[in-house]
Amino acid sequence: MAASMALGELWQASNYFLAQIEPAILALAALAVGVIAPWVLSAISCAYSAVEEKGIQRVLLNLFFHACRKIPGVSGYILREQNKVIDKLNSSTKSKRSRWISELPKSGLGNGVLDWLNSERQKDMKWEGKCSGTVYIGGTDAEQHFSLLNEAYALFAHTNPLHADVFPSIAKFEAEVVAMTASMLGSKELDGQVCGNMTSGGTESILMAVKSTRDYMRATKGITKPEMIIPVSAHSAYNKAAQYFQIKLKIAPVTSNLQADVSSIKRLINKNTIMIVGSAPGFPHGVVDPIEELGALAINKRVCFHVDLCLGGFVLPFARKLGYSIPPFDFSVPGVTSISIDVHKYGLAPKGTSVVLYRNHEIRRHQFVAVTDWSGGLYISPSMAGSRPGALIAGAWAALASLGEEGYLKITKSLMEASKKLRDGIQEIPGLYVLGDPAMTVIAFGSNDCDIFRVNDAMSSKGWSLNALQKPSSVHFCVTLQHVDAIDKLLEDLRCAVKEVKENQSDMEEGMAPIYGAAGKMPDRGIIGDILIAYMDNTC
Ligand SMILES: *Cc1c(COP(=O)(O)O)cnc(C)c1O
Repeated sequence: MAASMALGELWQASNYFLAQIEPAILALAALAVGVIAPWVLSAISCAYSAVEEKGIQRVLLNLFFHACRKIPGVSGYILREQNKVIDKLNSSTKSKRSRWISELPKSGLGNGVLDWLNSERQKDMKWEGKCSGTVYIGGTDAEQHFSLLNEAYALFAHTNPLHADVFPSIAKFEAEVVAMTASMLGSKELDGQVCGNMTSGGTESILMAVKSTRDYMRATKGITKPEMIIPVSAHSAYNKAAQYFQIKLKIAPVTSNLQADVSSIKRLINKNTIMIVGSAPGFPHGVVDPIEELGALAINKRVCFHVDLCLGGFVLPFARKLGYSIPPFDFSVPGVTSISIDVHKYGLAPKGTSVVLYRNHEIRRHQFVAVTDWSGGLYISPSMAGSRPGALIAGAWAALASLGEEGYLKITKSLMEASKKLRDGIQEIPGLYVLGDPAMTVIAFGSNDCDIFRVNDAMSSKGWSLNALQKPSSVHFCVTLQHVDAIDKLLEDLRCAVKEVKENQSDMEEGMAPIYGAAGKMPDRGIIGDILIAYMDNTC
């Protein structure tokens, strides 16, 4: 009895107590849900989007490697291995440096610098006719063309378009370079709405297009967490843009013929998507993406669409005119909102020149930065740089105006023929195959029965410089006017290189092959990134 009373009292007391603390518990529970739930949800959503982007295997592997680094001794081991690779990479650049100037000469060297310049120049690789891409001017008219560019530069070396009032000449040249390139890319059919600016190169053109698009989509659609979708074949400049401008980058796979996979891109589009990207052609394999389909997708999903014509802009329009079968790639395609086109590649202009174009002024407005309350005065600047080299703009104008449409048609014909010869020749070499269906001058190839990176090293030892590619392991050669007469020699050396590798004659441990080989097998991309950063940090 007493016990039951005690129990009854206890029951009452505890009920009373519970009633007293109920609001506190509820508040605590609410707090816990409020604080922890979003955290849990965001962790789940992070994990989900990581898996969506990289695949479950990669995410698990990354977690695994991350955990491994915590094991005592492992991170030290990784660091030592990393340093070995970095030393190897650096030894190839730093060992060539002699007569190193590390502070201002006490008394200036005067015109003596010209001797220095000339002697350093001798130490560069013998690049003439040997390097994939790199130097686009070449052939019998090369000397004359370089002189023209240099003269144009010399005439305007003192100019800066930041001071448009002082140098209306440069403002006019820039506007004319933009108009000339726009007219090659379907602007005439768009009632003069297409507009743009010159930049320092393809990367800056892409940076500007992405930045303008981000701000345009924020202003028109209120997108505050911007996302951009690129095919994996798109240039690394989009990664740079995503990092600089805080845009989430989503990378879509390519199809088996290495074109952007439209349905994969479609699946990645959501309410935060500001833009999709296509290349004509892409840098790695020289394959043109399905621009019309991507344009239709962009219109359907109401997102912007940038076409990367950095490489193809001064080839495809002329190849088309010459009768090569080239699907539409420019502003004639509905949905294309911006284009980047490098004048300093196949435009044969001086290095440091490119054009970014927009379908209309509404988008381009967002490229500009106006500062109205700076004590330095009212300030307006179109692109990344403040002061800009007017001399390069004059050089670009001189290149375009001097060559004219007939000049570019003739150049394109010889480039297309040389490229076809290279492609056919590679296909005839036993063991090599060409990747995808290259549309113009970049021919990528791999091998089923030997290590293509060792072939690349064997080519390097014969004085060639090809581009190593990954995923899949392959290399490419980008044909410029430098190579039109060198294709036979290139093919002959390539045939020998493949033979040497197959017969195991080439050195296994030298060159870049082991590094690319290791990079290909390394699932932890963070380590590779650290190596690249340490390398650059050491170089300059
Ligand atoms: C070269 C290239 C770029 C970048 O141009 P840079 O002038 O090197 O900055 C971008 N996209 C493609 C397809 C290119 O070939």
